[in-house]
Amino acid sequence: MTIIKPESQVLLEAQGISKYFQVGGGFRPKQLRALNEVSFSLSERQVVALVGESGSGKSTIARLLVRLMDPSGGKILFRGQDVLREEPRHASLSYRSQVQMIFQDPFGSLNPVHTIGNHLERPLMLHGKAKSAAELRDRVHELLATVDLSPAADVASRYPHQLSGGQRQRVAIARALAPGPSVILADEPISMLDVSIRVGVLNLMERLKEERGIGYLYITHDIASARYFADRTMVMYAGHIVEGAPSEELMLKPAHPYTQLLLSAVPDPNGSMKSALNAKSGAPKLIDPPPGCPFADRCPSVMAVCRQEMPGATPLGQDRWVRCHLFGQGAATGTASAQEPGAAGPRSALAEGAAS
Ligand code: SF4
Repeated sequence: MTIIKPESQVLLEAQGISKYFQVGGGFRPKQLRALNEVSFSLSERQVVALVGESGSGKSTIARLLVRLMDPSGGKILFRGQDVLREEPRHASLSYRSQVQMIFQDPFGSLNPVHTIGNHLERPLMLHGKAKSAAELRDRVHELLATVDLSPAADVASRYPHQLSGGQRQRVAIARALAPGPSVILADEPISMLDVSIRVGVLNLMERLKEERGIGYLYITHDIASARYFADRTMVMYAGHIVEGAPSEELMLKPAHPYTQLLLSAVPDPNGSMKSALNAKSGAPKLIDPPPGCPFADRCPSVMAVCRQEMPGATPLGQDRWVRCHLFGQGAATGTASAQEPGAAGPRSALAEGAAS
């Protein structure tokens, strides 16, 4: 995968962002902790994958970053500017033009009574990208050509139901490109597509990254596609990022027991991770969670300390870190019940996930 060039600019940064929801009423309302002090950054021409099960907090991060809702704490920086402080609750047009989102369901995200051309004209007009009807038509055709949909005039006149799933997702990508974004948040963009066309969509996104300098936050439950597409992978569990590393390193030498479990899952034809996860079932407790590591009830390496203290983030190398008592200080105080996963010793400061 592409190595980040030294001159790459940091586009988007999350600094200790959290999202809590109050549930229940009366005198003792409870708190659902969807996201807990998450930190990371995304640079030009970089793909950062967020991998985890449903409910792990991946999509909550995307919704916060695209400003569909505000975080309970923490900061979001875009090109160094504090987005939450400088913008009103609903993101400004300029921020929205720079940070776009692609959703999982290409059919659900398109209006069935509008033509493909209509779908692309709206963002072009909203963001002032065309000054006349002729220019608008040309821009629509350019966008369709960019995502390899041709003949453009024919595709523009069709309705969503007249296209295949892969073609619809290409339209969704073209629509995201219309305002000229530098960041795209891609929430499971290939999981509803036929296996045979997934690689084609990822290759298109890769090409756009190189041509336009786009940075992607790639949200997926499919760790294999993260290895294929992402420069860097962060693994999420119960609203925490538990491990972050260059994708290839993480896949070859996973440190966190949860990452190991994900990688040991048998791939199924739909590309999801199933059996190993289901073997040790039990959803994590997000409402008023107990102290300690949220993975303790499912972890094959659980120690006494795990149920008492939340592990901090321990660096494992220049761009790697893990949040687990098997590493760092917890390794010395815990009563180990399993072998320590192989990993290099701490060597450098943390780049992400160090907020708690
Ligand atoms: Fe397992 Fe303990 Fe590490 Fe959590 S902190 S993943 S329970 S070993």
